Amino acid sequence: MNTKTFLEAFHQNNKINFRALKEGQKPLNLNGYYNQYIEDKLKQLNNQGYDVYFVVNAGGTKKEQINKINAFFIDCDCGKDDKGNYFNLDIVKQYKQRVLKRVQEFGLAPSFIVDTRNGYHVYWLVNNANVEEFEEVQKKLIHYFNSDERVFTAQFIMRLSGYYWTKDIQNKYLCTVYQYNDVRYNANDFIQHLNSKVPDFVPEKKKVSTKTTVPKPCSIDNSNEHIDAIRRLDVAKMKELLCNKFDKKLPSNADISRVRGMGGKKENNNKDNIYLTYCSHFYPTPFKASNRADLKHIIYTKLCINDFLGVNDGMFKCVLHNDSNPSAHIITLKDGTQLYKCFGCGFKGTITTLVEAIARCNKVEAVEFIKKVYDIELVETENQKRIKEMLKENIEYIMSEQFEKEYPDLFKIVKRYIPYLVCLNELAIQNVIDDDLLSDNKAIFFSSIRYIARYLNNNNIGRTNNRVNLFAFLGLLEKLSKESIPEKYLQKAEAYRKDKYITSYYAIPSYSYYCLNEANRKAQTFKQKNMTMTAWSKELLVRSLNQDEADKVYVQQQNEELSKASEQFAEKATKIILDLIENQGYCTEEQIIKQIRGRKEDKKVKLKRCLQEILESYNLKRVKANKVLKEKFGIASKGYPFLIIKETEE
Ligand SMILES: [Zn+2]
Repeated sequence: MNTKTFLEAFHQNNKINFRALKEGQKPLNLNGYYNQYIEDKLKQLNNQGYDVYFVVNAGGTKKEQINKINAFFIDCDCGKDDKGNYFNLDIVKQYKQRVLKRVQEFGLAPSFIVDTRNGYHVYWLVNNANVEEFEEVQKKLIHYFNSDERVFTAQFIMRLSGYYWTKDIQNKYLCTVYQYNDVRYNANDFIQHLNSKVPDFVPEKKKVSTKTTVPKPCSIDNSNEHIDAIRRLDVAKMKELLCNKFDKKLPSNADISRVRGMGGKKENNNKDNIYLTYCSHFYPTPFKASNRADLKHIIYTKLCINDFLGVNDGMFKCVLHNDSNPSAHIITLKDGTQLYKCFGCGFKGTITTLVEAIARCNKVEAVEFIKKVYDIELVETENQKRIKEMLKENIEYIMSEQFEKEYPDLFKIVKRYIPYLVCLNELAIQNVIDDDLLSDNKAIFFSSIRYIARYLNNNNIGRTNNRVNLFAFLGLLEKLSKESIPEKYLQKAEAYRKDKYITSYYAIPSYSYYCLNEANRKAQTFKQKNMTMTAWSKELLVRSLNQDEADKVYVQQQNEELSKASEQFAEKATKIILDLIENQGYCTEEQIIKQIRGRKEDKKVKLKRCLQEILESYNLKRVKANKVLKEKFGIASKGYPFLIIKETEE
């Protein structure tokens, strides 16, 4: 069915209000007949990444303008996963099938079902409904279908069939009419039918914030022994249930080696994993987690939630709400985390969150319960404890007033980034690895820069990287080369990878006198050499300091030469500087970049990276202009810019 026919079913040949939305852009409203002009315009916007909608009811775009109700409708959307990504189409398909089933159960054939990638928009065309009735009907439909709660206002916009869903621009999806039935309902008949389906539902009159939804108390499935044991936090019973289950199923040798080889290869199907550990005849010793991150990694990725809850694989009836059809399932995220997700009640959570919900306990109790059920021990060595104390001291110190007083130059440079430094120390506390690497009193941990960025709540990876590199330059953090890490930790780092990005290895020393004194000295150098964070790069370090300093910071790229382009830029800049000084005795950075082609901001940064080296190579210096200098060089302009002049001047 084409878009024109679709729209005519709602609006006949009247004018229609369209809206085009794109994240970060102003919403665009269009009003008119769906003619070639409007169509071209909407298609054009759609191609530019706008999603295209229409106001379903007639009269305007505001509630008070709506004068004719054209349809009742719902938006069934399966949402996003824990990481904020859209579900893959296989999962969406399962969801859609349940929606169709529910629509069938409802009993009144919809006029349209529009396929919208993440679900369906379902419409029932109506005659003779008023706005008040509309809202009430919509709320009941939302309740019955568990559909999008926002879809109850008379002026609501819905996705226009025949246009692309563009929220993920790489994977556009054409929204089309999936089902069409030539039906139109009388409002009274529809309402009567709806009321028979949801007899005891009274829409809430009170309008609190529409954004926050109060979690409904869970109604727990009492027929399931597992759930009952979890509810009572009964460790012994849980062990019994799980052991019984797996005694029946004899594990293969492969299963056992997999258990022993934990920390080896990433295992997609980790079903046969850790639960074998407490079945004493397979693996008699408890499983040891060497730090908190390790513990969480085991809990989130190695335990099979289906077995824990005593439910089957695939879709199963939710244990948290009165579920007549299976609407819950377990998904495995990219990092291996297993997540329980229910389309019915909307619950989404890890195994610990499940325990919190079922047993109504706090996080500590939930983690303790899981640890005991699966015999997971958090074993910390004396060394680890000592290192953690050291890191806590670090944090306390950098947040103290003494820091600024004792190391003012260092403080000046890092003060903006203190939260970063605190976070990195925190990250080290959680991830500090055990014993043998800790001999020289440093906390060693590994992470990808992206994970650090996320942890620091900064999505700009490059900037996060620069800050980490600044700390490395100052010696507040050490970057370790892969070669210096023992094989067993490399394996572990690989197994723990939170994402597909390169893992880096870090060491944080104690921020004691010699460490901070040295850092303070480096901070002075930073200033003397006119180094800035905007120009921060390997090139800046190589050119302003030396290769050694750069290598310490850029551990993974030690043998990479500077790019040809940057060499060319430096050569060109050198020539311009020398020419200008030859002719007028001085030059400014402004004058230099004027003579080089390219974007001004780029040029500025590039110049900063190579300037110090040029100054030192040709006995030049960068000084702020003063009256004497301005007079000497005949500078008439206002202000006192930085000048590049010969070392021997003045
Ligand atoms: Zn549920």
